[in-house]
Amino acid sequence: MKTIKLNNGVEMPVLGYGVFLVNSEECERCVLDAIEVGYRLIDTAQAYYNEDGVGRAIEKCGVPRNELFITTKVWISNAGEEKSFRSIGESLRKLKTDYIDLLLIHQPFGDYYGTYRAMERAYRDGMVRAIGLSNFYDARFVDLVENVEVKPSVLQLETLVFSQQKRMRELIDDYGMHLMAWGPLAQGSDRLFTDETLKTIGTKYGKTNAQVALKFLTSEGIVAIPKSIHKDRMASNFNIADFELTEEDKETIRRMDTGKLKVDFNDPDMARYLLEYDKKFNPNS
Ligand code: NDP
Repeated sequence: MKTIKLNNGVEMPVLGYGVFLVNSEECERCVLDAIEVGYRLIDTAQAYYNEDGVGRAIEKCGVPRNELFITTKVWISNAGEEKSFRSIGESLRKLKTDYIDLLLIHQPFGDYYGTYRAMERAYRDGMVRAIGLSNFYDARFVDLVENVEVKPSVLQLETLVFSQQKRMRELIDDYGMHLMAWGPLAQGSDRLFTDETLKTIGTKYGKTNAQVALKFLTSEGIVAIPKSIHKDRMASNFNIADFELTEEDKETIRRMDTGKLKVDFNDPDMARYLLEYDKKFNPNS
């Protein structure tokens, strides 16, 4: 598996497996399948309420822990230094591991400076190998990065062929960070799987639209974490190492960028939805 080197020297696989909207029981089976297929990077979050499913899979999979790369994210309801620090301990317990490879702040809400300080503490204590952010944009992103001691290594954003994050990638590069793409398959939208441009490129290599889309992201140095509950799709999404896109292919795909995102973090309705998320999704609330 191809890796990238983060700004603190940690190596991270460029292709991983995401488990958003997979319940804990099914998650264990999915992660075991994904690891069998070859994935070594698993992306979960406190707010997916399936860290324990990932943990059971880590325990059962038979792959040494140091060959896996586990990412999780601190949720809004755990924002603030002490609460976040406690929640990191809880994530470690659920994930059945002594360390998290990459820990992100999930959303830019609440006392996220406090959250970040807790993550710095966990990093210094060896509970976490790298720290970063998710869904931070523009001034809020710059302000945080400029005002913390341990520089974040990764920013996870909605990124796909239709929304390539050109502006944020310039900022990410400026800070020596890496971009991690959530929703790399348009969250299952047919628009990506039926797109004629991707189809034309894929036909040359005997590859599907999904494979071309993932190959494009990873060849741009962007870490992609597609999700599927189906083992055959997991395998197909993983099977992108045996072809290369030409510079012309990549230029064609770069022109597919609309700059528009599905999830707009400046939209007050989105903020309200996220702040109310626990009422709907937390099985314990
Ligand atoms: P993806 O872009 O990975 O798309 C997943 C959807 O595509 C599922 O409906 C899946 O269906 C379908 N799919 C997957 N592969 C194929 C294929 N080869 N052919 C046809 N359909 C396919 O969306 P996600 O939202 O899951 O994003 C990926 C990961 O990113 C998440 O799982 C999560 O880990 C992370 N994430 C992070 C966010 C953040 O705020 N930081 C927000 C959202 C996601 P099926 O399962 O039925 O195969």
